[in-house]
Amino acid sequence: MNLKDKPVEEILPGIYRIEIPLPKNPLRALNAYVLKGTDRNLIIDTGWNHEDCMSAMLTCLRKTDVNLSKTDFFITHLHADHIGLVSALAQDNSTIYFNEPEADKVSVSAYWEEFRRFARQNGFPKDDIRTVFRRHPGYKYGPRGPLSFCLLKENDRLTIGDYIFKCIETPGHSIGHLCLYEPSKKLLISGDHVLQDITPNIQLWSDGRNTLKQYIRSLKKVEQLDVDLVLPGHRRIFTNCRKRVLELRAHHQHRLKEVMSILENGELQAYQVASRMAWDISEAFPSWDEFPPPQKWFATGEAISHLKYLEEEGRIQRRISEQRIFFSLK
Ligand SMILES: [Zn+2]
Repeated sequence: MNLKDKPVEEILPGIYRIEIPLPKNPLRALNAYVLKGTDRNLIIDTGWNHEDCMSAMLTCLRKTDVNLSKTDFFITHLHADHIGLVSALAQDNSTIYFNEPEADKVSVSAYWEEFRRFARQNGFPKDDIRTVFRRHPGYKYGPRGPLSFCLLKENDRLTIGDYIFKCIETPGHSIGHLCLYEPSKKLLISGDHVLQDITPNIQLWSDGRNTLKQYIRSLKKVEQLDVDLVLPGHRRIFTNCRKRVLELRAHHQHRLKEVMSILENGELQAYQVASRMAWDISEAFPSWDEFPPPQKWFATGEAISHLKYLEEEGRIQRRISEQRIFFSLK
């Protein structure tokens, strides 16, 4: 990465944006934020546990004159592009702030077995599951070793310099996602809950939840906040938070209609529903069969979250046959 092209940017007094590259990933980069305080600094999100992320982070910390031995960490959610590098950056005296629902899900092995079984039930091909897991950043670039966290919940405060942030629980994109809101500065650090240039991916890989319902509820919560500036986890910083929230809500309503119309032709598994939905990458990969398995995985997880939402609304129903789940209109 050429750092001349990707400078550290001071957004507000004492708040810097650092662009951490995510090589060979469609997200391209993560926005980490460095907040310089009087005694302690705070780094919000870190990038993958990957040498390119590490070298970009260290270069930028030198430029901002941030000493890691006086630095704590806040992680918006458990995805590897946000939490991966924290195990390598944290010092013995660092506090890592995180959320309770995801604290025991950071190590990969246990819950991925459940994903695998659930994916099979929803029609995802066995061979592709193997490829997905091999390539998945969560598998390759997650944090190493056990981490101890200071767990935060709704309305907890974090003070850095002149900024007093309030935690806002925003489950949906992940089950424990936290945003930070600074009411007097009208500043929202949004993680992957609200992004301007891309649509946050809302997946579902187990049966006990309704992630889309949670996500829409979390959008409505953020819609109520008085926000002048949003610092998101990816791509551009933006100003009109409420407008973007409304766009995202409309997007999911449109997706729900799309799923309903796909089911008009009869009963289908979630994987088949996903194959008939419209996807942004359809230009690069004109047919579903050409989609790389990781893209099929994201698409199927997204289809399942919409199917679950419609099922709980009583608009569609499921039938289970030989451990396979089929959906149809009611
Ligand atoms: Zn992310």
